[in-house]
Amino acid sequence: MVIAYKHEPFTDFSVEENHLAYTKALQTVEGYLGQDYDVVIGGERITTEDKIVSHNPANKKEVIGRVSKADQELAEKAMQAAVKAFKTWKKVKPEFRADVLLKAAAIIRRRKHEFSALLTKEAGKPWREADADTAEAIDFLEYYARQMLLIKDGAPVQSRPNEFNRYDYIPLGVGIIISPWNFPFAIMAGTTVAAIVTGNTVLLKPASATPIIAAKFVEVMEEAGLPKGVLNFVPGSGAEVGDYLVDHKDTRFISFTGSRDVGLRIFERASKVNDGQIWIKRVIAEMGGKDTIVVDKEADLELAAKSIVTSAFGFSGQKCSACSRAVVVEDVYDQVLERVVALTNELTQGDPTDYANYMATVIDQSAYNKIMGYIEIGKQEGKLLTGGEGNDLIGYFIQPTVFADLSPDSRIMKEEIFGPVVGFTKAKDFDHAIEIANDTEYGLTGAVITNNREHIEKAREDFHVGNLYFNRGCTGAIVGYQPFGGFNMSGTDSKAGGPDYLLLHMQAKTSSEML
Ligand code: NAP
Repeated sequence: MVIAYKHEPFTDFSVEENHLAYTKALQTVEGYLGQDYDVVIGGERITTEDKIVSHNPANKKEVIGRVSKADQELAEKAMQAAVKAFKTWKKVKPEFRADVLLKAAAIIRRRKHEFSALLTKEAGKPWREADADTAEAIDFLEYYARQMLLIKDGAPVQSRPNEFNRYDYIPLGVGIIISPWNFPFAIMAGTTVAAIVTGNTVLLKPASATPIIAAKFVEVMEEAGLPKGVLNFVPGSGAEVGDYLVDHKDTRFISFTGSRDVGLRIFERASKVNDGQIWIKRVIAEMGGKDTIVVDKEADLELAAKSIVTSAFGFSGQKCSACSRAVVVEDVYDQVLERVVALTNELTQGDPTDYANYMATVIDQSAYNKIMGYIEIGKQEGKLLTGGEGNDLIGYFIQPTVFADLSPDSRIMKEEIFGPVVGFTKAKDFDHAIEIANDTEYGLTGAVITNNREHIEKAREDFHVGNLYFNRGCTGAIVGYQPFGGFNMSGTDSKAGGPDYLLLHMQAKTSSEML
């Protein structure tokens, strides 16, 4: 009997023992920086000349590791390995598949700080952000293992006399997992194991900015006893390997997390039926966000300011759930803004290996350039109240930045910036605030800070986001507690870490026997 699911607790770094353990883990990771990692196909390790080089965003000269790069030929080889492995993996008992996940969770838990320290180095995650990413990876493994056990016998249907009807869930086939760099452990691992535990075989193409944590995860799954060929590791360029695999006739489904534009491109390409293809591909796409915190006039304004600051600037705003818009009712606008600026000015920023730093960098040069470009736009569209400066000499540092008095139609209030920038706009009243909050093509997360019960109920009905929070920030969803995923251009309405997520990787089969 598997014990009930409970989410992995976050580490309390004020406890000296934990603090020391993380410092030691950073040293462990520093001991293996710069190593080479292979493509893995059917259990075979393949080294290629061409490498993806992973750099530390806080110290761009430091190489985290080099990963062999799959080209189309290797992608094809991996596809054949996955097609072959599917024939046996789909027949493996769900209990066995779930056990592999539980074992992997145990392995990760034992080396928890090491994985988090690797995230600090490879993705520039401050300690607490890295710790949360690893905890979420563990949660996905634990939660999906248990969910599989719940659905393994299908769902109940009626039978008439002399008839026995069954309704079973069966796997789909080969899936392509394409993951982002911003939750390089949790999302990469979660999307991969959801596909695997349901009996599918996969090709994992990690984000090119963070391939080392993915290579380490593949090692964990091997150690946990996953048979060869079930998880094939094909790091490579999104444009080359990504397109090839999305188009492939043997691809049965694609599980993508990333930007709106790439998600739509995949959706469109996957809809084309190619020669020899005998199914309609399924696409699970989790895409961008333009997430809003609404502040009502009857509200705890200190809570509002704190929620805005932590949701906007945690991991430098590089979360799909990050607060990039604050819509505040005019009666309390000045007060909230003033407090947000004061709290923002207290934030510490620097190398993420130093626990004292709340914020570190953005991921790479192109993100840096894009965000600095938006800051210039913000200066034209609104009033810069704090931040606005960047420094990319050693790493990609951008100050937490607050813009005020933006029009709801401004680009800062409409487009996903994916950096430490939050824009403020004033609403006439609560209804107007919800109207502005909804005026975006995305619909991922949102929060409302209010003490007015009627307004809570209005927002519950009218604020159109997949994850809505009251009297707290809009980031930090927990697997199995706040299943995560958005509406409209934020994706295909799926909910990672939710009770119906695994079914997206399966199809239902009805059988009816006359007795
Ligand atoms: P991205 O640029 O769209 O990349 C995501 C993945 O897609 C990467 O592995 C990338 O590979 C790959 N890719 C690029 N072009 C491709 C193509 N033509 N075909 C197939 N794959 C391709 O996104 P990102 O910058 O990594 O992540 C940030 C975005 O993800 C933001 O928009 C954020 O809101 C969103 N996000 C959403 C969620 C959610 O749950 N809704 C969660 C996290 C992040 P390369 O790295 O090799 O280019």
